[in-house]
Amino acid sequence: MERKQYLSKVRRLVVKIGTRLILRAEQPVDLDFLDGLGRQVARLRERDIQTVLVVSGAVALGRRALGLSGRVDQVGLRQAAAAVGQPELMHLYLEALAAHGLRAAQILLTADDMADRSRYLRIRNTVEALLAERVVPVINENDSVSVEGVTFGENDRLAAIVAAKTHADALIFLSDEPGLHTADPKQHPDAELIGLVRPGEGLSHFGGEAGGAESRGGMRKKIEAARMATECGIPVVMAEGTVENVLLRLLDGEPLGTLFLPGEPLAGRKLWIATAREPAGRVVVDEGACRALTSPDGASLLPIGVVEVEGRFAAGDIVEVLGPDRRSLARGIANYSSEELRKIKRLHSREVPRLLGRPGAPEVIHRDNMVVSLEPR
Ligand code: GLU
Repeated sequence: MERKQYLSKVRRLVVKIGTRLILRAEQPVDLDFLDGLGRQVARLRERDIQTVLVVSGAVALGRRALGLSGRVDQVGLRQAAAAVGQPELMHLYLEALAAHGLRAAQILLTADDMADRSRYLRIRNTVEALLAERVVPVINENDSVSVEGVTFGENDRLAAIVAAKTHADALIFLSDEPGLHTADPKQHPDAELIGLVRPGEGLSHFGGEAGGAESRGGMRKKIEAARMATECGIPVVMAEGTVENVLLRLLDGEPLGTLFLPGEPLAGRKLWIATAREPAGRVVVDEGACRALTSPDGASLLPIGVVEVEGRFAAGDIVEVLGPDRRSLARGIANYSSEELRKIKRLHSREVPRLLGRPGAPEVIHRDNMVVSLEPR
């Protein structure tokens, strides 16, 4: 019932395709998978459903072409491999979609592109224009130019950001795993598939890392990305890409994989905060502030509740708020720089102007500029 409710009315879909669906060690590219995907995207189009693809595999294809073995962690080499592999990856998707009468377009993104509001709006316009022209956007991280330390890290997160910022109705992660299990099925053969995850359900005990040299994601990253999307009001499914007609069947409400139900949709600035790049710094708050922030009335963060300030940030940067146990509580736009905040932490707001020698906001982070996690991370 719930699946139908969330997935049958989807008009815009973001599908993330993991590297190992097209390329596994020692095996040729899986052209059957790609063909099946092209066919499904064409069928969705006939039903007036727009599809945006977020694809991985540039590094793996480039590595193979260059004869490099194992994981390529050296940055320059990884970026070179991506530069070799990206056109090959695009070629595969172009062919697979063209075989079913679809035109595709390539968009390569860096974390900076998505963090800069004017650039992000331009990208959104481009995606809208492509979809209006019935072209399938095929998106990947621009791995060969991304600056180390500010990359998306893996495409699960990129896909969640793309879904949130293009206002998709659903996000589907296709990989070589059937979904989220009660334990890692590779180590616990009796682990069961979890069909449904509700907002706020604790999942922090899940922690599988990436499954091979090809991909960077892994279950933990996928869960984090799924949470980001559901916090933006988007339902997420994790399912096995090789299941026949998996996309069509999911949208028909068939109970495949794991469905993460969405929370209340975030709009405008809050959506921006939830999906912005990694926070510039952190503030640790005391028990009282922690209670106030997570209470249903939703208070702002005041200087008196701040016990610790970590990292360097400017006023206007996005910072993460940690509870006394260092679990992440919220993200928000700081009204003070890290330097100022170190001076005014633990103080009553009225003492701030005297200490800083200028008038300042009573809040460290105003409630309107804050997104509180649905569950402690
Ligand atoms: N952007 C990387 C690539 O195309 C993949 C990152 C990931 O595995 O998620 O190779």
